[in-house]
Amino acid sequence: DVLVFGSAIVDFVAYANRLPKAGETLHGHKFMTGFGGKGANQCVAAARLGASTAMLGDDTWGNNYLEQLRSENVNVDFIKQCKNETTGIAQICVSDSGENHIVIVVGANNLLSRDDVIQAKVLFDRAKVLICQFETPLDATLEALRAFNGISILNTAPAVEDTPVDLIKSATILCLNETEAAITTGSEQISTLTQAKVAMEHLLEMGANNVIITLGAMGAVYARREEPETFIHVPAVKVNDVVDTTGAGDAFIGALAYFMAHYPEFPWHQHIGAANQVAAYSVRHPGTQASFPKLDQVNKLTEF
Ligand code: ADP
Repeated sequence: DVLVFGSAIVDFVAYANRLPKAGETLHGHKFMTGFGGKGANQCVAAARLGASTAMLGDDTWGNNYLEQLRSENVNVDFIKQCKNETTGIAQICVSDSGENHIVIVVGANNLLSRDDVIQAKVLFDRAKVLICQFETPLDATLEALRAFNGISILNTAPAVEDTPVDLIKSATILCLNETEAAITTGSEQISTLTQAKVAMEHLLEMGANNVIITLGAMGAVYARREEPETFIHVPAVKVNDVVDTTGAGDAFIGALAYFMAHYPEFPWHQHIGAANQVAAYSVRHPGTQASFPKLDQVNKLTEF
């Protein structure tokens, strides 16, 4: 149902009392590896809910990550493993006060190409929803969007200041968080619904067909080019015990894809409401992929 054209990145996280200064070697007190990368995270979020998913990407570290994706029932037949490039990694240092330093080397993710889109035509023909992000080469991402006839969700993350208009126009839905919306539209940080509305209008003017902006604890808003007056706010679930918000946006997007693929007859605000429920579960649990729920762990999907 859901095809993800995107990145797989392994996180190496060292925890220390404080962040090291330049040139300093510091003892840390804990180390963890984690499976990340926006593409793979979104794919796992959709797979956990029960979507049949396939992932397209390049990887070398590779075998461990492929095993992980297989264990989540993701079709990895078209993930290429290459010998001459390192796997995408994120080297993360977290201090006791929660500050972090992150260096990302996307490595093999950079090798994803337009040829890969052509070779995986069978996946593009079969899927109902395609998800892309900005952690893989933009020309290949554009090719993927153009090759697809179903609903495509473009998550413009990490955001860039001069997002190519072709990409914005080629996706059915542009989905981004408030920080990414501010960078993409060149505006101040968005913290109110009014500011979100202005950013959405700007993104529609830039050529987006439909826009969803996620707003953390405020939920999400959406607007459609076809009905310019529509500006709909779907509030988040109220969560009093937030544990870890990492990956909330990826949970939201994976879930959105799952609900759109499985319940195409329902209106979008219901898909978004259900994605809010899934993302709320993820902020109440630690980790990134580890925090994504199965369908029966999410309450109140009653509208479905
Ligand atoms: P990102 O993870 O990309 O920063 P957001 O912070 O916008 O994305 O969060 C994505 C979604 O996760 C929101 O639309 C909302 O559904 C959910 N969410 C995030 N933070 C909270 C929170 N504190 N309470 C409830 N839901 C939340």
